[in-house]
Amino acid sequence: MKQSLEKSKDLAHRQKMNHALKQSDDAFEKGKGQFSDLELARDWANAIKRDAIMQLDTYLCEFERKFTSRGGKVIWAQTADQAVEAVKAICSRHRAKTVVKSKSMVSEEIRLNQALKDGGVEVVETDLGEYIQQLADEAPYHIVAPSLHKSKEEVAQLFVDKLGTEPELRPDQLTQVARKVLRKKFREAEVGITGVNFLLADIGGMVLTENEGNGRLTTGFPKVHIALTGIEKILPSVHQLSLFLPLLATHASGQHITVYNAILTGPRKADEADGPEEMYIILLDNGRTNILADPTARESLYCIRCGACLNVCPVYKNIGGHTYDTTYSGPIGSVITPHLNGLKDNKHLSYASSLCGSCTEVCPVRIPLHNLLLYNRQQSVAAGYNSGMEKVMFLTWKKMMLNRKLMNAGSGDVKNWVFKVFVSKIWGKDRELPMFPKKNFSQQWKARRQQK
Ligand code: SF4
Repeated sequence: MKQSLEKSKDLAHRQKMNHALKQSDDAFEKGKGQFSDLELARDWANAIKRDAIMQLDTYLCEFERKFTSRGGKVIWAQTADQAVEAVKAICSRHRAKTVVKSKSMVSEEIRLNQALKDGGVEVVETDLGEYIQQLADEAPYHIVAPSLHKSKEEVAQLFVDKLGTEPELRPDQLTQVARKVLRKKFREAEVGITGVNFLLADIGGMVLTENEGNGRLTTGFPKVHIALTGIEKILPSVHQLSLFLPLLATHASGQHITVYNAILTGPRKADEADGPEEMYIILLDNGRTNILADPTARESLYCIRCGACLNVCPVYKNIGGHTYDTTYSGPIGSVITPHLNGLKDNKHLSYASSLCGSCTEVCPVRIPLHNLLLYNRQQSVAAGYNSGMEKVMFLTWKKMMLNRKLMNAGSGDVKNWVFKVFVSKIWGKDRELPMFPKKNFSQQWKARRQQK
């Protein structure tokens, strides 16, 4: 709460966010022109994801059968701890000292870096944005653009502090510095860890889509590849990528298609030049089946993590990613976190919304995000998590709104005084209180009719 109040008043932060998000907005406006009928594409994507989620068990088992038939290994992890233990066990079997990792929000969700570090394994982020965040010892700020909130000057200073570079380096020169450091790590690492953009049931494959090529190096150099994914990332068929890859690219970064798109179907075969000797895919539940069991919340599992709902959210734009204090920020984070991490401790997230509906309007898979935020609020009230004061206030409000005499009682001055003395404390000192007119509605109406 305190942090969000501070952030919303931080004009320098707002300027950086507006600049970055304006660029992404412009790119999206241009990029979406590639669809002759974007609305139809969104309907189609929604229908495919609905089918995938409604038959999740069937598709996941089909994926496992096909993937393991080519020598890949599948690990089912019900909790974050189980996923972490599985990764640690693989690293320990291979005596891994260094792990390279490409972008993976699931690894953030299970707090993998810290767990590996505690076990004496060095984890190196290889996505440039993630690498910057790792140098700064910060969590990602955005699910697609981890260091969105940093200006180029701040990144340059970070490199000076952590890598001893010259202060006047340009962004392309800083990228070269990072590349040099990371190339060495790719060669040293025994294990590579990646996320997954899509799982493909019919061919038993996983898709990695990225712009830097670091994902390819992470899966190509080390002897062992571990892919971490939530169970909801499944698509029934490889043929559906022709819809989902452009849809994801456009909504994430305004591109027609992301630069590097790889489908991985198992470890290296005898006649192949590169690839890992062992390949594991960890399928993480960690609360997702709670969402699946709820017919209303279930739609949030359609998410393809494009980040578009964050980009358009007035709350995210003002308070930024870290203020949420959750792995997934923005509207989708506020929708799923109470289901993943408990409603009681996370109910406030669903209240931090203007319910403007911009998130729902932009979502490529048509998740009704603002309705799901309202749904979380309903659940929170039904569970009795709201304060006694709030209950009394709304009961009073309801009683008054349903009774004309009560609504008209007291002059505007009296009502303004009541609001100033009693309501202003909970209304928030930075918000302007609504002002009641001197005459109530009935008096104004009567006067108007008399004038005619
Ligand atoms: S909820 Fe929709 S808009 Fe938001 S990240 Fe997921 S797919 Fe993208």
